[in-house]
Amino acid sequence: MKAVLLPRYGGPEVLEYVEDRPEPVPGPDEVLLHVHAASLNHLDLAVRKGIPTLKVTLPHILGADVAGEVAQLGSDVTGFEPGDRVVANPGLTCGRCEFCIAGDDSLCPDYRILGEHVPGTYAEYVAVPARNLLPIPVDMDWVPAAAAPLVFMTAWRLLVTRAAIRPGEDVLVLGAGSGVSTAAIQIAKLAGCTVYTTSSSDAKLRRAKEIGADVVVNYKEMPWSKAVWELTGKRGVDVVLDHVGEATFKDSLRSLRKGGRLVIPGATTGPMPQIDLRYVFWRQLSVLGSTMANRREFGEVMKLVFMGRLKPVVDRVFPLAEAAQAHAYLEKGEQFGKVVLRVA
Ligand SMILES: [Zn+2]
Repeated sequence: MKAVLLPRYGGPEVLEYVEDRPEPVPGPDEVLLHVHAASLNHLDLAVRKGIPTLKVTLPHILGADVAGEVAQLGSDVTGFEPGDRVVANPGLTCGRCEFCIAGDDSLCPDYRILGEHVPGTYAEYVAVPARNLLPIPVDMDWVPAAAAPLVFMTAWRLLVTRAAIRPGEDVLVLGAGSGVSTAAIQIAKLAGCTVYTTSSSDAKLRRAKEIGADVVVNYKEMPWSKAVWELTGKRGVDVVLDHVGEATFKDSLRSLRKGGRLVIPGATTGPMPQIDLRYVFWRQLSVLGSTMANRREFGEVMKLVFMGRLKPVVDRVFPLAEAAQAHAYLEKGEQFGKVVLRVA
């Protein structure tokens, strides 16, 4: 099959397009998907560069997000037929531990992600557990379907479960252009919040307004935490979603109202911020981490995507053979929304 291999860690140029990779064989509980589209996530860039604590077998196939057709069923799989159009929850869990049994399977000690721990979706075929699949509506195209799962499930758990956003609250989403941000802006808006967002690009801020942002701040013109402080009448926002990390953590804390919540799904600029603990205890702040989502949350958010209430934002589509160019493009950070590979 056609696939993009990661033979060694490094820059985008290490990605190698091949046409003679053997197809995966689905296990008893798995289906083999014929991949139509796969989308990129920042996770893919991190795995490509090499995560010190992550052991992967090289050559590896990246890719967590997929939309495709059921091609073959494992021996124990029921409920699907060849030709069914589906997307997959990229979270792989044991199904047996206390967290899985309680329904909070993203806390599973054995939690793994498609394309991070096991071969992923930058390929013509991928094997995925049948219980991870959801059928997609007949009128939904492959590209937006593949753009949705990881970022929407991540943003949903962050805001709805962890931050428990309420109608009327002020929610600040840092960095308007990231995939998670374009999902989070829409989710916060749908929940009845006033949505603030930041960027250094006026073009991205215009796009952010089109998908629901109410207040936009260009941080090239003014420090964003100062702008947010003034725009909220020196109250601060109820919730900050910060995936930037070291570069923004301190200002994120300063932008919160007393009793506010900071939610963190990642740290693209580094994981070791300076923190003034006086801000945390005196202002009674909550700092909440979040990773991926459980199966219920995945189902909840994808239902809204399938209804058209939440819309995947696709910036650019590359053919599978140009995965290296797609990585280089995402790494530049100039996109607004998702970068997708068209496979079939
Ligand atoms: Zn488990």
